[in-house]
Amino acid sequence: MRIAVIGGGVIGLTTAYALVCRGHQVELIEKRDQIALETSFANGGQLSYRYVSPLADAGVPLQALGWMLRGNGAPLRFRPKISTRQWRWCLRFLLACRRSTNQRNARHLLRLALHSQEILRRWREEDALGDFAWRANGKLVIYRDQTSFDKAAAGLDASAGQLVLDAQQCTDIEPALQPLAGKLRGGIYSPGDEVADCHLFCRRLLQRLEQSPNFRLRCGQAVSGLHSDHGRVRSLMLGKEQLEVDHLVIAAGAASGALLQPLGIELPVYPLKGYSLTLPLSSHAGIPETNVTDYDNKVVYARLGDQLRVAAMVDIGGWDANVDRGRISMLQRLASDTFPAAGDYRSATQWAGLRPATPEGTPLLGATALGNLWLNVGHGSLGFTLACGSADILCDLIGDQRPAVALDGLTLAS
Ligand SMILES: Cc1cc2nc3c(=O)[nH]c(=O)nc-3n(C[C@H](O)[C@H](O)[C@H](O)COP(=O)(O)OP(=O)(O)OC[C@H]3O[C@@H](n4cnc5c(N)ncnc54)[C@H](O)[C@@H]3O)c2cc1C
Repeated sequence: MRIAVIGGGVIGLTTAYALVCRGHQVELIEKRDQIALETSFANGGQLSYRYVSPLADAGVPLQALGWMLRGNGAPLRFRPKISTRQWRWCLRFLLACRRSTNQRNARHLLRLALHSQEILRRWREEDALGDFAWRANGKLVIYRDQTSFDKAAAGLDASAGQLVLDAQQCTDIEPALQPLAGKLRGGIYSPGDEVADCHLFCRRLLQRLEQSPNFRLRCGQAVSGLHSDHGRVRSLMLGKEQLEVDHLVIAAGAASGALLQPLGIELPVYPLKGYSLTLPLSSHAGIPETNVTDYDNKVVYARLGDQLRVAAMVDIGGWDANVDRGRISMLQRLASDTFPAAGDYRSATQWAGLRPATPEGTPLLGATALGNLWLNVGHGSLGFTLACGSADILCDLIGDQRPAVALDGLTLAS
């Protein structure tokens, strides 16, 4: 079967890889000159398989009002636009901000995340992908505020393999937190979580794909339109060229909705801008070895080889992916207050990316109203974590097999 995949980020690449491994012919189409230069470029690097709670949760709308007063330091910032897409997304987000809805969606994400971990394990061990700064280092979410810690500890799903720690246990597990000891109230520890460099992972997948005669990469070519008739996609437009397809997978990140709108398919996917800093390390002293999430500041830290990646913040404000200087300098301040030994954060590489997010925080996988058009979109804050499992499931569906994981809550219809 000739399958075209639109989008050369971590979702498109894992999809292409899984399809080629199952013997399909794949063309991967990427509008940039190289793969993985958009949201998959410098994300937090966390393979957060067990800490998957969606952003939409009880209390978040009220908290967001308070955050508005924190200016550039706000974990979440809303920039209203004259855009029905933005307002519709925000309305659905508000509806998803119920504890029961959050918990239900977290269960869907956990199921997919654990499958994803298993698929990545297979690819690492059986396919020898090469180095992409992968480590099994665990994840520690630290709390400075007693109320948020108590709430997190009370809502913990013990079956997910997470542990509640007091402040002393946090610094025992992660000695780099020692300078913060007096400020910590406790932590939630996921010993089974992992870390890796998403961009490097994408490049390793591409290296393997390029060894296959069944794979073709078209970089620097943007899909400008899709043609359908009799309930199927027939072809796509690449400039003046018309490319015929047997199956088409949409994995174009935040741009996916615009591609499908002309076909009458509405995707509830909106870009949530986030920021990161990448700091080269001259020594590992005082640097966290576990993935650390500073819950109250909503900042994540991960060591990727000889670099420290710091990522944070959500801006709901359209498709502009430029770095906002005010946001970055606040991130530099938060990071140097937390891990000062890492170095001078003013010299860190700055980056911003658009998380392709659904209001509920769950991705959209699988079928659409058109028989041969498939979705692998909307992975929001967890795209790296969920990529391998999502790709595997999509292959099951395209191959007309029962997916390895139940799909409720993970499709456009649900
Ligand atoms: C600050 C930040 C921190 C994050 N931290 C983490 C983390 O720690 N762990 C985690 O799991 N996730 C994290 N994420 C989320 C993760 O990065 C994303 O979910 C993931 O990268 C999305 O991948 P994607 O392939 O869907 O999108 P992208 O990487 O954006 O790829 C989509 C690709 O489609 C291409 N494209 C778009 N339109 C067209 C077209 N018309 N024709 C051809 N090509 C097209 C684009 O050029 C792009 O390369 C973070 C995100 C941000 C912003």
